Amino acid sequence: LPTRSIRVLPSEIVLPESYRRMDERECKDLIIEHKKREGGRVVILGHHYQRVEIVRLSDIVGDSLELSRKASQSDAEVVVFCGVAFMAEAAGVLAKQNQTVVHPNPNAGCPLADSAEVDDVETAYEAFSSASDESIIPLVYMNSSSEIKAFAGNRSGAVCTSSNAAAAFRWGLEKGRVMFVPDEHLGRNSIAQLGIPDEKAALWDPKIDNGGIDPKRLRKARVLLWKGDCHVHSRFTVEQVLQAREQNPGARVVVHPECRREVVESADGAGSTSYLVVEANRAEPGSTIVIGTEINLVSRLAEDRPDVNIIPLARSLCPNMYKISLRYLLWTLDGSGSRHVVDVSEKIATGARKALSRMLEIA
Ligand code: SF4
Repeated sequence: LPTRSIRVLPSEIVLPESYRRMDERECKDLIIEHKKREGGRVVILGHHYQRVEIVRLSDIVGDSLELSRKASQSDAEVVVFCGVAFMAEAAGVLAKQNQTVVHPNPNAGCPLADSAEVDDVETAYEAFSSASDESIIPLVYMNSSSEIKAFAGNRSGAVCTSSNAAAAFRWGLEKGRVMFVPDEHLGRNSIAQLGIPDEKAALWDPKIDNGGIDPKRLRKARVLLWKGDCHVHSRFTVEQVLQAREQNPGARVVVHPECRREVVESADGAGSTSYLVVEANRAEPGSTIVIGTEINLVSRLAEDRPDVNIIPLARSLCPNMYKISLRYLLWTLDGSGSRHVVDVSEKIATGARKALSRMLEIA
């Protein structure tokens, strides 16, 4: 089977001078012209954390899984994924054979996804497996490369998202012990939701020999977590929650589960990006809601609901999401599906699809 494309290394991507010189208004007008001309042949997907001007020009807006699913259900030949690299790869994995997925700026990676390299994950998996006779179920967060998803898929594991992580842990723990990669905080928050004490989890640091874990501790652990985090969410603090409450009496505070456990515990609610969007949309007019997630999303929610006082817990921007601008989007659209094509080999895609379809079974 053919691979869908060629991988373009980030260092090769430099926005041409002619696009760099364009003003935003001109870019926007040209993108709108493209959309009219292409009709349904091209679909633009915009992740919730994209710049507001990108979201406003997107045909579908959502979280990573939602976008990949909707794109694969559409008849578009070209899927333009405005998000970070692992998201565009997931869309490539789920795409139909006649669909091409393109990523406007392949320099937009994700440090959380990049923290888990397949060789290091394999070392941790082997160590955890040899520590006991029980089966090890690899659970991988959606925010991981397609190689890591394939690693899980080929070892009876599954993918999970921030909205179904606790259910996925329950599923895995019924079968054996669970190794969760790569977000430590989502792992801790999920096991807490299941009432599993934190002591039952061990933390594997890929930068330290043997993960920095004492063999006795590894033997006793029910869950092995990976030392990785999303810096956009792990920087929120309990002090910020307390300060937000003090400054906004009666406000509801909601955060993403990639936040540290103590931050999640100090909030009124925690959930996926979609959950945060629903919370903002259903807030009572005149009420105040403080949201702990990426600033572009919080600003857009505030713009969409001027009747609600929507405040960020702190300004936390994802610099990688921000790397996609109108200029990059236009440059990609001008390539008509041949520029920045996402490469997922059929072998990797097959393994990753197994892990993704197990997630759907769990749901
Ligand atoms: S918000 Fe966090 S997890 Fe999402 S792309 Fe940015 S760094 Fe990665």
